[in-house]
Amino acid sequence: MGSEAGGTVVVGWDPEGESEPAGLLDGRDAVGWRAVCECGWRGPMWARVATSAEHDIGRRRVHADPGLYGDAPDDVESALRREWADHVGPAALEGWPEA
Ligand SMILES: [Zn+2]
Repeated sequence: MGSEAGGTVVVGWDPEGESEPAGLLDGRDAVGWRAVCECGWRGPMWARVATSAEHDIGRRRVHADPGLYGDAPDDVESALRREWADHVGPAALEGWPEA
């Protein structure tokens, strides 16, 4: 998923609050999603929450079963795409397929 120039990754928390791409982790253990860019930019974290009661898309808290590969739900995926698009700006998006 994603692409060489931008996309989304499954990330894991570490105690410092930094996160690293967790490509080797089982996606079912995903704790959240964020947009990333080849320049090193990272979008805000969308946290995966355990229960639907905690689900609050406006605060980037998502209750979802990401499956084995950790794919974000479609609405989160498109939000991540928008965040990344805002980061790179419209000129950089020329030639990219529509989401
Ligand atoms: Zn960038």
